[in-house]
Order: sequence, then structure tokens, then C-alpha cells
Amino acid sequence: MAEEKDFTIQNYLEFIQNKKLMGSKCKDCGKLYAPVRKLCTKCNSLNMEWVELSGKGELAAFTSITVGTPYFIDLGYDRNKPYCFSVIKLEEGPMVSAQLVGVDESKPDLIKIGTPVKVKFLENELKGETNIDLGFEPA
Ligand SMILES: [Zn+2]
Repeated sequence: MAEEKDFTIQNYLEFIQNKKLMGSKCKDCGKLYAPVRKLCTKCNSLNMEWVELSGKGELAAFTSITVGTPYFIDLGYDRNKPYCFSVIKLEEGPMVSAQLVGVDESKPDLIKIGTPVKVKFLENELKGETNIDLGFEPA
């Protein structure tokens, strides 16, 4: 049962592998966290529950990256094919960071803060294995 899993980043990422964007919600004050937290920083409660998030939000910040991490370099991104790393403000409130797709990464001037986005789980094929990464695209 989802509700019985510990509120760890590993479990949060495991949900992403199953194409679910989950957060943790404080049962005492209602504050929502994504990525998940065990401890509510607002009221210090440990009384959390898993909630599935809508995956809708808006673009809060982004950067086009030409010199990526080894993972993105292995996926084929480089100076000529940059990727866009973004911060998304979810409609439920929390901010998550993820790759933004469906935009022209080579023309960051055309990407606008506040653009409505929706979650898109990215199937990245790497060394014969499919990895699911959290991503967003314009809604
Ligand atoms: Zn709380």
C-alpha cells in the first residue's frame, strides 16, 4: 500500500518510476510537500500521508544547460543540444525541479516564466535500461 511507504526520497523516486507524482501532506496542518518530507517544517508534525499530485503547475524558473551532468551527457545532450532544467510551482503549492521538454531549448528567450505546464514522465533509454524521469511540458 502506498500509504504505508516511508516518506523518503527513494520512495518518491520509486513512484516516479511508476509514473506517479506523489507528495506528502501533513495531517495536522495540511501543508503539502513535494519532494516528500517526513517532518512538517511548519508545525513539526510527523503525521504525514501520501497524496498524488495533479502534475499541473506553472514555470517558475528555468535554465538552458549546455554542459550537463554525466547523466544528461550520456542521454546525448551537449552544447549543440542543450536541455532545459526548470523549477515548477505545482498548483497544489510545492515547487519541484525537473526537466522541461516541448520547448526550444536553443532559444531560451522564447520560454516564459508563468507558462502553464503539465507533468510528462520521460522514458530515458540508457545502457539498455529504461529510466523514468520527472519532466514537464507546456500544457
Ligand atoms: Zn504540519
